[in-house]
Amino acid sequence: MKILLHICCAPCAIYPVDELRAEKFEVMGFFYRHNIHPLTECIKREETLKSYANKIGLKIIYQEGYDLEGFIRNVVFREKQRCIYCYHSRLEAAAKLARHGNFDFFTTTLLYSKKQTQDTIKEIAESVSRSVGIPFYYKDFRTGWNIGIEKSKQLNLYRQQYCGCIYSEKERYYRMLGVKC
Ligand code: SF4
Repeated sequence: MKILLHICCAPCAIYPVDELRAEKFEVMGFFYRHNIHPLTECIKREETLKSYANKIGLKIIYQEGYDLEGFIRNVVFREKQRCIYCYHSRLEAAAKLARHGNFDFFTTTLLYSKKQTQDTIKEIAESVSRSVGIPFYYKDFRTGWNIGIEKSKQLNLYRQQYCGCIYSEKERYYRMLGVKC
């Protein structure tokens, strides 16, 4: 069975790829770029993923372009709800690609992160699955949270300090400085 795995970054991909391979899936990755800001950070995460993927023999489709402007336009005035749009855009892109490429399923490394909202991701993915017409594979990868972190440290992978968008960067460093958002 072929599965397309949306990948947000290399450290978050470690555990899901290992699990899916253990379940005998033929895994291919999909790296989505528009929500990772600024561009230098996006390139850093992409390069880290390329190097890790080479190491483990994982094929990846890298999204073309870098529509930071489109991302901002879609969340402006709704910044507090931006993750809904962000999840939807990434999952929909993955589902469409999976359908186009005749995959059996699509899924996402977002299900690995303890910092994301698992129920919302699942709900959006199931809705996208119905509208695009490709099955979504759900698994709570958070059970491997510590395993993934340990492995990423052993491999000395670049581990980012914030989720991705420029708003999350501000929140991360405001928190660090003790400033309220
Ligand atoms: S915080 Fe993360 S999930 Fe939410 S909008 Fe930003 S990049 Fe997307």
